[in-house]
Amino acid sequence: MELDRKSFLLAASAAIVLPGQEAQARTSPIYQLPESKTKRFAWTIDDGVSNTAVKSYLDLAEKYNQHLTLFVTSCYPSWRKNKSQISDLLAQGKIQLGNHTLSHRDLSTAADAIVRNQLQQCHEFLLETYGYDARPYFRPTYGYWTKHLIKLAAELGYTVPVMWYGTLGDGYNRSQKSTLELAHKWVVNRRIVIDHANVPKGPNELLRVVELINKRGMRSVTLREAFGPNYR
Ligand SMILES: [Zn+2]
Repeated sequence: MELDRKSFLLAASAAIVLPGQEAQARTSPIYQLPESKTKRFAWTIDDGVSNTAVKSYLDLAEKYNQHLTLFVTSCYPSWRKNKSQISDLLAQGKIQLGNHTLSHRDLSTAADAIVRNQLQQCHEFLLETYGYDARPYFRPTYGYWTKHLIKLAAELGYTVPVMWYGTLGDGYNRSQKSTLELAHKWVVNRRIVIDHANVPKGPNELLRVVELINKRGMRSVTLREAFGPNYR
């Protein structure tokens, strides 16, 4: 009985197209933050292949008060292993979780049923594990999006596709520019900056970025903080 009730609640929470929502449906992703009186940027971190890397960002939020948006690919164990710290940081409002699919399929070419399943499975993982509803924010895998994908995602309540304008690297190619070099270029007011928790950064690399943020009189904010709680 309990399982049935749980399934019902998940299904009910997934059926979320609100009256009037389609009339003002979005046709393109967001790339930057709205204007504000303070200098701020969104530090967004994707995937979560490396548990060590995920942990380093959680520690950054906890110990250095950086507000981060983590786009979760829910098949990676790091999102379960760090449950206690993630729960604490969510409760403190220091991190936000976004939907980055179950297993990182390219949604721009996948069949509709696969797109729905990829988004829905990640959605349900976050709901079951954290009691957390990541809607309306999702990040298209590989940054590949189509108007059709945006429409399908919106039908599941994921009405805000999030792209980026600047990167702190994917960590895979260490001969590329350092995180700090990239931060110098991209940590700028109103930017949404993409980063990845797939390969651990070098020692203190993230702290150097925090020093730069502070030196520039900026702060990192979650997307919810920047856009407000009712943004759709
Ligand atoms: Zn990704």
